[in-house]
Amino acid sequence: MTIDEGYIKYDSDWTPGPAPDQELTILLDTWRRPLFDAGLIGHYEDLGVGYGNLSIRLGSSDQFIISGTQTGHITDTDGQHYAHVSGYDIERNRVSSTGPIQASSESLTHAAIYELSEAINAVVHVHSRALWDALKNKLPTTADHVSYGTPEMAHEFTRLYRNTNFRASGVAIMAGHDEGIVSIGHDLEEAATRMLTLER
Ligand SMILES: [Zn+2]
Repeated sequence: MTIDEGYIKYDSDWTPGPAPDQELTILLDTWRRPLFDAGLIGHYEDLGVGYGNLSIRLGSSDQFIISGTQTGHITDTDGQHYAHVSGYDIERNRVSSTGPIQASSESLTHAAIYELSEAINAVVHVHSRALWDALKNKLPTTADHVSYGTPEMAHEFTRLYRNTNFRASGVAIMAGHDEGIVSIGHDLEEAATRMLTLER
């Protein structure tokens, strides 16, 4: 298995700052908990890298609050573990964030998904060997030669949203990102619940 998680491939422009809005980080922690308990967000002990991340859109803007890089091992998260993505450039692989911690290395994938529709207000990304093996090419699936954290992955989500039932079902498998699965929702509850109720 190849793990490309946890390494920031993008050009990260991070400005240290205060924790994001507490109401939002409490909501993120509330829905992160069952995902963490299910092992869908966590930490590869042998590799020393975290996996899985989640975000919510800020109002009707193109900005969002996302879990910070290398927070997968943490059981209880608070504002110190979240970042505000204030800008990005998908083609240039560039992300601007502020907060106590740098944004997740998969922020550009989240940004690309928010661009698909104003109706998408939350994105959840997890890792699961069992679900990935069972659901790859059964649910909408990104091309297997496209790895995470690339502009090509952003384009793949556009393709899935237009040409498959991803828009309705809200779950996609990332074939080129081992164990990677994404869910979307009108709100965080919907995105997280879609992930938590996947059948193997
Ligand atoms: Zn991942």
